[in-house]
Amino acid sequence: MQASLADAPTLVWIGLGANLGERDAALRQAVQAIAALPGTQVLRVSSLYRSAPVDAGGPDYLNAVAEIATRHDAHALLAALQAIEHGAGRERPYRNAPRTLDLDILLYGEQCITTLALTVPHPRMHERAFVLQPLAELVPGRVPPGALHAVAAQAITRCQDSGWVDG
Ligand code: ATP
Ligand code: CA
Ligand code: CA
Repeated sequence: MQASLADAPTLVWIGLGANLGERDAALRQAVQAIAALPGTQVLRVSSLYRSAPVDAGGPDYLNAVAEIATRHDAHALLAALQAIEHGAGRERPYRNAPRTLDLDILLYGEQCITTLALTVPHPRMHERAFVLQPLAELVPGRVPPGALHAVAAQAITRCQDSGWVDG
């Protein structure tokens, strides 16, 4: 048993996004890399969505949400996700810059976390159709009533079932 892992897994929802390079491949590889983390299982992945960048230029994004069960605590999970982003060539030249891969912790169980490194639930998730739509596909009960309506003006298209993980 690894001491850094909790005994019981927590259900976590991760937002995935990419708008540079082979976006589809980057999201698929990210899902595989998450599934390979110790003490972590990918349970379901939403459909893929295409969305125009919000508050930024650059190509359209591909987005999805993954539902995982992990024994990592939230900060260890963030570090692992950042290592996966780094492995995908993620650079941060400026805020909201186009990126090869972005992995955000949207919800970590029922926990509310506010530290310098981490805010959960993700502080901007309720402003973003590209987060709320795939999240609602997986867990409609975690999207507040009216939230989808509030972002209905944002251009977003459901592309396809991800088909990456058996439901
Ligand atoms: P946004 O947070 O608005 O989606 P972004 O994803 O482009 O923007 P990043 O440059 O990827 O922002 O991350 C900046 C910092 O956000 C990270 O270094 C991380 O410490 C912090 N952060 C805070 N809360 C979260 C969270 N819930 N998930 C991921 N990173 C978070
Ligand atoms: Ca983000
Ligand atoms: Ca991020």
